[in-house]
Amino acid sequence: MQLIIAIDGHSSCGKSTLAKGLAKALHYAYLDTGAMYRAVTLYFLDHGIDHNNPDAVDEALRHIEIHFERLQGKNHTFLNGKDVERDIREMRVSALVSPVSTISAVRRAMVAQQKAMGLRRSIVADGRDIGTVVFPDAEVKIFLTADVDVRTSRRHLELAARGIDADWDSIRKNLLERDEIDSTRADSPLRKADDAVVIDNTLLSEEEQLEMALDMVYARMTASRKQNVVK
Ligand code: C5P
Repeated sequence: MQLIIAIDGHSSCGKSTLAKGLAKALHYAYLDTGAMYRAVTLYFLDHGIDHNNPDAVDEALRHIEIHFERLQGKNHTFLNGKDVERDIREMRVSALVSPVSTISAVRRAMVAQQKAMGLRRSIVADGRDIGTVVFPDAEVKIFLTADVDVRTSRRHLELAARGIDADWDSIRKNLLERDEIDSTRADSPLRKADDAVVIDNTLLSEEEQLEMALDMVYARMTASRKQNVVK
């Protein structure tokens, strides 16, 4: 059954882990919308684009092409033909991505691409505005959250595993700053969609979290099938 699963929530609370787990279990595509905002930010940094200059931003957006490829079972983000999966996770990108993501022209360009990628459904997307703006008609909506210290430790481990050096305090500060900017921006702020289910995974293992989400998906599939039989 072809559903859209929307996962939103705070920074580094395991959205991508859950989204990848669901995509694998259901044989769905995975759309990492945060990677797209990170790729735009990387382009701005590498080309000296002033994100406060609307003309420079519009011009830059015309030269940005982002797509995803699966390489050895893993999702890789490509910016203008170059694999930037590792570069977009660097702290210099994390430090600027939320201000860049407040720019409406950037959001318009990314959301248009994301909507196109979801046309065939069978997709799990994670981000900040998925259940509210990108796929408001998603059949399953999850809003993830977790304690900030637990999130910091997970992020610290994840970066170390990628060989990226960052200290615990800077990571914690960055998470809180991004949450603040993401939740208070004027254009599509991070918020729980009215019909999203909240999962606080502070004390959950990855497997427990995946099981809860899969239960929600199967319940939704069963409900849709019953509706179709009644029709
Ligand atoms: O998901 P990730 O933490 O990689 O996202 C990086 C940043 O991109 C977020 O902190 C947020 O500022 C921005 N973002 C967004 N809307 C999305 C996904 C990410 O504004 N749908």
